[in-house]
Amino acid sequence: MTETDRTPEACKGELAGKIALVTGASRGIGRGIAKKLASLGAMVLVNYNGSEQRAREAAEEIRSAGGQAECVGCDVSDFTACGSMVEQIIGKYGRVDILVNNAGVTRDNLLMRMSEEDYDKVLDINLKGAFNTMRHLSRYFLKQRSGKVVNISSVSGVLGNAGQANYSASKAGLIGLTKSVARELASRGVCVNAVAPGFIDTEMTRALSEKARESGVAAVPMGRMGSVEDIAEMVAFLSGNKSDYITGQVICVDGGMAI
Ligand code: NAP
Repeated sequence: MTETDRTPEACKGELAGKIALVTGASRGIGRGIAKKLASLGAMVLVNYNGSEQRAREAAEEIRSAGGQAECVGCDVSDFTACGSMVEQIIGKYGRVDILVNNAGVTRDNLLMRMSEEDYDKVLDINLKGAFNTMRHLSRYFLKQRSGKVVNISSVSGVLGNAGQANYSASKAGLIGLTKSVARELASRGVCVNAVAPGFIDTEMTRALSEKARESGVAAVPMGRMGSVEDIAEMVAFLSGNKSDYITGQVICVDGGMAI
């Protein structure tokens, strides 16, 4: 990890002085969330697994804009590695104020053709990954008597989606995990919420066929894909003190898909 100087601009924002860990922030929605939280003054830990170079670029982009960021590599599906990442961050900063569980993957297929390996992979990263980070950070949140956790679920976890049994199960599970942990930590001033994005323009959705993208857009009442910034705005709201009385909720940011 390499530290950067606190800038006057960063000190002014509503998240000034906050330490934020964003998982899967090397690209896509996570990167957008990291940029947004940093623009509001948070010191952001940009977590990555495979894309170290892109995580470094994301952190550099934040620093060039006057914010604070460092990279921290870790496979969120690895319980022990998550423990080491948390200890590394706590050792350096003494606290974490904001945790965004964004790391996620797809391995789409119809149930009849879905391999056990693809089922396990998606559940391990998307669902167990969030358990791992929350489990290791919970004792610090309890000690601080504060904390904001935002779990990135999906409209697929709310509605289900043909061809995504593994992904939908992981994202629906994340909603149950969010609500249960919210109940456990509420009396100690810790808020735990979920954001369920709809069809957002990132590499995840760019990997779909043209036909699949067209039918995805057709399922959006607003008739267009969402942007990374649409999701980042909601995460910023749930990470700041304007949402202090909100916990255990699932906010769909989806152009109306889940109506
Ligand atoms: P993306 O562009 O594919 O990015 C995925 C991110 O997750 C990458 O930064 C990747 O980092 C990270 N990641 C994957 N496996 C990881 C692991 N084991 N440990 C740590 N990080 C890991 O996806 P996206 O579209 O931005 O999606 C971000 C989140 O939003 C996901 O949870 C996704 O399910 C959810 N979501 C997306 C959409 C959408 O339409 N795009 C809709 C609903 C929900 P590395 O490359 O460094 O491994």
